[in-house]
Amino acid sequence: MNLRSLPDRRPFLTAALALVTLAALAAAAISAEPRAKDLFGAKKLPAVVPAQSFGFYSKGCFAGGVALPMEGPTWEVMRPSRNRRWGHPAMIALIEKLSRDAAADGWPGLLVGDISQPRGGPMMTGHASHQIGLDADIWLTPMPKRPLTIAQRESMSATLMVDEKTHLVKDALWTPAHTRLLKRAASYPEVERILVNPGIKKELCDTVTGDRSWLRKIRPFWGHDYHFHMRIGCQPGSPGCKGQEATPADDGCGKPLAWWFTEEPWRPNKNPDAPKARDLMTMANLPKECQAVLAATDAPSLAAVTYQGGSAAAVAVAEPQPTEPVETISSGTLPAQASAFAPTPKIGIPLPRPRPGN
Ligand SMILES: [Zn+2]
Repeated sequence: MNLRSLPDRRPFLTAALALVTLAALAAAAISAEPRAKDLFGAKKLPAVVPAQSFGFYSKGCFAGGVALPMEGPTWEVMRPSRNRRWGHPAMIALIEKLSRDAAADGWPGLLVGDISQPRGGPMMTGHASHQIGLDADIWLTPMPKRPLTIAQRESMSATLMVDEKTHLVKDALWTPAHTRLLKRAASYPEVERILVNPGIKKELCDTVTGDRSWLRKIRPFWGHDYHFHMRIGCQPGSPGCKGQEATPADDGCGKPLAWWFTEEPWRPNKNPDAPKARDLMTMANLPKECQAVLAATDAPSLAAVTYQGGSAAAVAVAEPQPTEPVETISSGTLPAQASAFAPTPKIGIPLPRPRPGN
């Protein structure tokens, strides 16, 4: 049909066109709402303010972060260009402590993967969690004897520890030192969960003798076959931090683990192209304090917000400056140096959840 032959329809078409244009403008206005991942991903430094986490591991941000130095005697930061070596001071202090303790246990040193962005928040790529400075990925590959160059840290591959078909640990790769490393990480009271591939959990369930109480913190999850993920609880001074349910008191080697060795958890994602939460989140989806976290003035230098080592008291976090816009994020906080760890309430028993979309 030739519309030009129907001039009487023109007013209708004009009106329809106007409606379409309005709808397009409205859509543009919605999509113009900046994504939280872009805003947080653009921040290169935190502000010098007391440490405080806001929201949940997968929906939040944090203030007063400090950087793990690029390397120390017993650790090296991997993929440094991502600028994800930031965490709550308690987390950074714990990684440093784990690196020392693990070295004493015979693990040569930690290759540290992603922790958080300088102010947390959703990331441009990877990770649903790691948003409040209380999550860290640590490679299951020991630190090599020779120091890695920055280029090597960007390109070196981690070791895949699990057979992707059987979901069992590769026997030739798993060592007692891997088990000791996970046991050491689980031994810290502030560590609430350690996520590992189900094959790794099964290996531990099958081989750990003596004290098995720490196995309750080792939680099977997809991925986590090159690295493990260490999660600590909400820290003192963070009333806006939402904790996670405590893990069940048993070793987790029974039915919930068996589920992972059925076909169900491994069904292909029916909708692999669906947008992920981090691709949609705007500031409106995050705790309101994250606005102030984002707006706070950058630290004067990287050195001023880099962890100095030794103890939490040595963290190079100055007292907040009165000119900083910290009013909305400093209420109820403790100094960043506070390092006492609150007990975790024991509530609920989480069941395996359906496979997430990412
Ligand atoms: Zn992780």
